[in-house]
Amino acid sequence: MPRRPLPTRFSTVFLFLLAVTSYGQAPSADRISRHIRWLAADKMQGRGTGSPENAKAAAYIVRQFRKAGLKPLGTAGFYQPFTAEVRRVVVPDSLRKAANVIGFLNNDAPHTIVIGAHYDHLGLGRQGSSLAEKPEGQIHNGADDNASGVAGLLELAHYYAKNDVKEPYNLLFMAFGAEELGLQGSRYFLSQPTMPLVNLNFMVCMDMIGRYNPERGVGIGGYGTSDAWPQVFKGVESPIKFFTDRAGNGGSDNAAFYAKQIPVLFFHTGGHPDYHKPTDDADKIDASAEEQILKLCIRLLDNAMQQPKMTFTAVN
Ligand SMILES: [Zn+2]
Repeated sequence: MPRRPLPTRFSTVFLFLLAVTSYGQAPSADRISRHIRWLAADKMQGRGTGSPENAKAAAYIVRQFRKAGLKPLGTAGFYQPFTAEVRRVVVPDSLRKAANVIGFLNNDAPHTIVIGAHYDHLGLGRQGSSLAEKPEGQIHNGADDNASGVAGLLELAHYYAKNDVKEPYNLLFMAFGAEELGLQGSRYFLSQPTMPLVNLNFMVCMDMIGRYNPERGVGIGGYGTSDAWPQVFKGVESPIKFFTDRAGNGGSDNAAFYAKQIPVLFFHTGGHPDYHKPTDDADKIDASAEEQILKLCIRLLDNAMQQPKMTFTAVN
């Protein structure tokens, strides 16, 4: 539904302009690439939880949310600060400052869809989950994991905030902190939600969507978490290959939402030899494929928004 009714006498010019603007709002490989290069640059030092660069990444996301015109829905503006804890290895500074970044697109709807991606990564390899032989001191750029997902989050926020359509659901955009330390940001939000969880319809998680492999395709998990998903996927096509997987209980922050009995979808382009290594770099990202993944995601979201609020189904 358009926000403003279209006066017929302007229709031709208007529709042309609308087409041009809508085109401009759609996910673009160029912008995706720019976001990833910024977030995964060496000077960002791997965005380790508690580091100044991690805070810089959060501030970047705040700027983008503000530019899109989202409403802050953290506890301190867009921020929802919390204390994260390093548990896998013993370090003197095990307690770290962390924050989720939360922006709301209010469509005056009764229910809300969550779109999330984590923005933290492994920093200089002293957090305990690097797969490098000698990780300490090496910058783990985390371009795929998960600058790619954050770029997706920012593109979807940009698209839905600027498309001049008032969707039948509100959208809550969340960049999670401390995911690499064990889903701590998403779990913190779910224990201290800034909107009633009962109003949430489902959650879409993007974690590692930058390494599209045409042999494998992009995996979409969570297909079994509601009986409504088959209807949402019906007739949806894409120039890229995709497949569904019933499980919603693993991989990333979607698992925390699944544990709260909220239906989920989890987008993931699969593992690779650079996973959790200092070589997960921006020049290995396929931004054009990511653009198509996000357009596929928009098709699915638009279909889901034509349906009533979903009911959760556990996957065995
Ligand atoms: Zn990740």
